[in-house]
Amino acid sequence: MPLHIETPLIESEPLSQATGRRIWLKLEALQPPGSFKIRGIGLACEFHVRQGKRRFISSSGGNAGIAAAYAGRHLSVPVVVVVPESTTERARGLIRQQGAELVVHGATWNEANALAQSMLGDEDAFVHPFDDPLLWQGHASLIDEVASTGAKPDAVVLSVGGGGLFCGVAEGLRRNGWNDMPVITAETVGADAFARSIAANGRMTLDAITSIATSLGAKQVCEQAFLLAGQRPVHPVVVSDLAAVQACERFLDDHRILVEPACGASLALAYDKAEALQGFDNVLMVVCGGVTASVDLLRQWKANMAEPLNTLS
Ligand SMILES: *Cc1c(COP(=O)(O)O)cnc(C)c1O
Repeated sequence: MPLHIETPLIESEPLSQATGRRIWLKLEALQPPGSFKIRGIGLACEFHVRQGKRRFISSSGGNAGIAAAYAGRHLSVPVVVVVPESTTERARGLIRQQGAELVVHGATWNEANALAQSMLGDEDAFVHPFDDPLLWQGHASLIDEVASTGAKPDAVVLSVGGGGLFCGVAEGLRRNGWNDMPVITAETVGADAFARSIAANGRMTLDAITSIATSLGAKQVCEQAFLLAGQRPVHPVVVSDLAAVQACERFLDDHRILVEPACGASLALAYDKAEALQGFDNVLMVVCGGVTASVDLLRQWKANMAEPLNTLS
């Protein structure tokens, strides 16, 4: 039995109405650890156990760390998650809740990651958040599930951080004979390493992540994501943080599911009638999920981004 569940594929009335085309949702937000990440991380962790590994080490304070902790608990393998001091109390709590050992180290992820790497012994497996072919094989299962229903979308919308989800979906499309199906990628301003790389025709590194969509906050996408973008149809779209947060709010009202702005970035394409969707009648949206947002946080972000009142004195 895999560690992920088969998620529902539903046609969304509210999103279809908003955008004037049929929108199909693959509800990865319903995975027990809250995001698609358990598909790839679950597969990778099961592989590592078969190889004789006895401990998993992760350096993600986000959904990858939570998925690794979940996988370890279900496989009875201890997990260490090293996170930087900037990781929120909420994320720390979620990692501890899954029974993982939480180590807080360094101001930034680079320092936390360096400590995680230095802890690796022969019997330990490092669980990467996005750059690992095993992960992509696991993420691809979400497309297998769509194909097995007999439905065939015209295009797929998904969010890109480090590009692991994109590589996995591309693999799923390839192995189901859908290699020519366009993928429309969503990122937020300030976490748009993929769109910039495609525009520059070279893999770009962002100086800093300035978006609130922290789950999209890889300064550089993995090499495979960039290579695939040159080999298959891909249309990158970049939305504002505000559009992503507003999409989360509307989605909560419409489908009663709370997702992170990282996921809201994709949903915003439907709610804001993105031009990139034009010409597609049946669009599959990967509702990637994410557990590090709360209703309170959505409100705070929106309040911080709101136009200042009384600009005229
Ligand atoms: C990890 C994650 C992403 C980005 O996935 P990548 O594989 O890094 O591109 C998007 N949304 C959520 C909720 C995530 O957890």
